[in-house]
Amino acid sequence: MSLSSASQVLQTVFGYESFRGEQQAIVEHLVSGGDALVLMPTGAGKSLCYQVPALVRQGCAIVVSPLIALMKDQVDALKELGVQAAYLNSTLDWSEIRAVERDFLRGELDLLYIAPERLLGERCLQLLSQGRISLFAIDEAHCVSQWGHDFRPEYMGLSILHERWPQVPRIALTATATTHTRQEIIQRLALGEAKQFIASFDRPNITYHIVEKHDVRRQLLQFIRQEHMGDSGIVYCLSRNKTEDIAKFLNKEGIKALPYHAGLDVARRAEHQARFQQEDDLVMVATIAFGMGINKPDVRFVAHIDLPKSVEGYYQETGRAGRDGLAATAWMAYGLQDVVQQRKMIEDSNGDEVFKRRSAAQLDAMLGLCETAQCRRVRLLAYFDQHIEPCGNCDVCLNPPKMWDGTVAAQKILSAVYRLFKERDQRFGAGHIIDILRGKKTDRVTQNRHDTLSVFGVGQDLSDSAWRSVLRQLLANHYLALDIEGYGTLALTEKSRAVLKGEEVLMLRQESERMASKSRNIMP
Ligand code: ADP
Ligand code: ZN
Repeated sequence: MSLSSASQVLQTVFGYESFRGEQQAIVEHLVSGGDALVLMPTGAGKSLCYQVPALVRQGCAIVVSPLIALMKDQVDALKELGVQAAYLNSTLDWSEIRAVERDFLRGELDLLYIAPERLLGERCLQLLSQGRISLFAIDEAHCVSQWGHDFRPEYMGLSILHERWPQVPRIALTATATTHTRQEIIQRLALGEAKQFIASFDRPNITYHIVEKHDVRRQLLQFIRQEHMGDSGIVYCLSRNKTEDIAKFLNKEGIKALPYHAGLDVARRAEHQARFQQEDDLVMVATIAFGMGINKPDVRFVAHIDLPKSVEGYYQETGRAGRDGLAATAWMAYGLQDVVQQRKMIEDSNGDEVFKRRSAAQLDAMLGLCETAQCRRVRLLAYFDQHIEPCGNCDVCLNPPKMWDGTVAAQKILSAVYRLFKERDQRFGAGHIIDILRGKKTDRVTQNRHDTLSVFGVGQDLSDSAWRSVLRQLLANHYLALDIEGYGTLALTEKSRAVLKGEEVLMLRQESERMASKSRNIMP
């Protein structure tokens, strides 16, 4: 089949004038029988990459998708365009299934969407072997990655497609971009021969903004009121309870909000999702259970009030904003406590050592993004091995942090940690260390006689918030580590020594007092 027919299909069936970005090359490759691995950010137009070849090639395209809830919408949209499409999943009854199977066997389908667990059943494999297949599309291919947050065990079985139908081209698609995930996809889906198409992951219309957490409800409220009143948005939290609390709080403050988490019953979740989809001024306060498959172009902001577990997760979640290409904001408030809490969760999890090490490294990268003095977007894309110029649009670019010589401050913190460590007293976290430095005679300080330490009161020159900022940067740059055996206490590292000995000058980012005080004072 020639490419002109691909362009024709694009124009006559889908009503688009031309392909975007790499779509044409991908379509061409697939039409001529090659395998492809496609990495494109959400909203870039992955669907057409297999829908057009499905119509150009002979036979029916099998689309593997984990998102049962979306299949019907996708199929309805295709039918609307006059495409013969159908789906097989657990929402159909027997007679409906038989009708779809019959259509497939008669060669009357162009696209058939199938949930992976169903596809791998013997009945379905049998069915497929009796019809003509044009291509396999494996959507959300990162679900095969055991390390990602969307892991689906069924995806592991999909290499069978290659074994049974070696001559049928396959296209795997995802918006998840790390080199590691890519390698896992290639290996697990036997896509070693596939041509890779990797689009830029930059989302220029999203403004990234990360602030220190003080009083997160008020900060969130202020952010929405000042920048996004009446807009559709998503607020991500870590816990189910918190989604409910924050949704209540926002409603009380006149911002229409609903909670969403995996603990709500299915009907309520569906209702909330449908309302979010339809209403243009609703804020969804959600855990990451609200995720893949949200297909709303005009989400104007995504706010994180807890630190995401990884940069990859952060990118996915913030990527749900501004899919229409119009300006949108990714806002996050985070504090040291988030890091401590999450390290603790990792340590207490059931995962093995490899899992724990890996999760800790992911968290670490996230902390690095938060504490960077570089353009947020440069840093974010660097994580995906992509390089761009400073964006001029994120909080760091708009308000470049002043750098200051934090060597002495760092030495004070490191000595305090060293003294506590020497006492083999593991119970003290960041807050206590700051109290000691600032010379505060709290109960804990006096009970433990920490007011007798030589470092007591040596840090009067900086505010609590400035000290916290120093601490976070020391952590982010590995001059300090979190010792999770205790209560997330701080520990020295290899790198601490040079600073303590005065062999290294540490330039630190100054906490933007404007942002910090703004968020504290504006609300009554
Ligand atoms: P993804 O799956 O990558 O998130 P979609 O396939 O849902 O993205 O496409 C996002 C939007 O872009 C859809 O509304 C789609 O119709 C539109 N789109 C995709 N390709 C083109 C194109 N070549 N021309 C115009 N619009 C396009
Ligand atoms: Zn920037």
